[in-house]
Amino acid sequence: MDDIAGIIEGRIPERVTLRVRSLTPYTSEFTSEQIDLLADIAEKYGAGYVHVTPRQTVEIPHVERSYINEIVKRLHEMGLSPGSTDRYLRNVIACSRWCLFNAYPMTGIAEVLNREFADRKFPGKVDISLSGCDFSCVRSRTSDIGVIARADVEITDRKCKKCSLCIKEPLGCQVDAIEITDYGVEIDRQRCIRCGFCTNVCRPGSLVVRSRGFDIYLGGRGGLKPREATYAGSVNGEDQLIDAIKRILDIYMENAMEGERLSDLIERQGDAILEVCK
Ligand code: SF4
Ligand code: SF4
Ligand code: SF4
Repeated sequence: MDDIAGIIEGRIPERVTLRVRSLTPYTSEFTSEQIDLLADIAEKYGAGYVHVTPRQTVEIPHVERSYINEIVKRLHEMGLSPGSTDRYLRNVIACSRWCLFNAYPMTGIAEVLNREFADRKFPGKVDISLSGCDFSCVRSRTSDIGVIARADVEITDRKCKKCSLCIKEPLGCQVDAIEITDYGVEIDRQRCIRCGFCTNVCRPGSLVVRSRGFDIYLGGRGGLKPREATYAGSVNGEDQLIDAIKRILDIYMENAMEGERLSDLIERQGDAILEVCK
């Protein structure tokens, strides 16, 4: 059989595990029709159940190997694709579009990166994780390339009505960075995680988003040799972020030795690679 991304040898002879990602309409989101198809494939060719992986893909275990080409054709017709295994780019993951904390919705960027790089093989494992805010629910700081969206908030001269919505549960600041004083509102910049959430509830416009952008972290990893990623720089727009990630992947492709991850390359060559994000 050809080298097909998404095929993992199974525990039963002549049966494999099929790892599937969603490419349409949005990365890591599955429509009801797509879920129906996955259920049908699991029922007809597998064991009747699936597993959802930490990288937001679905694994169908115990699939009969002889049916793989037929199954892959059906997946492609429905906007799904086998992948995210071995040295193929691991599924680029992002926060859900509906989380209220998103300083910036990241699914569109994940979709672009998955489409462009899903079928490319790299020297080692590469995972990219895009968080909508500093809570980093998709583990941006332990990924090879991690991104955290930021919304810088400014205090305007519009009078604070002291409604307290920006500090009260459930819609207020989650990290207690805001204080309402006799003179108006104050933000503790050391505590503020730049999510921009407070601006959503401030009706008078005393708090507004001044700018949005992305912090980039490189060289993180989990597993046997966990390593926290290093902050490498910030960019302002989606195009700049995608360009920066492409440059990082190119440098990694050109310089990494067989089996090396980005963290290994950074440790071997020093921090110069981090300059690409500046
Ligand atoms: S990292 Fe922030 S935006 Fe993303 S899911 Fe967590 S809380 Fe929501
Ligand atoms: S003060 Fe900072 S952390 Fe708190 S809600 Fe506003 S932007 Fe988010
Ligand atoms: S800053 Fe805005 S949301 Fe917060 S107390 Fe003042 S008016 Fe209300």
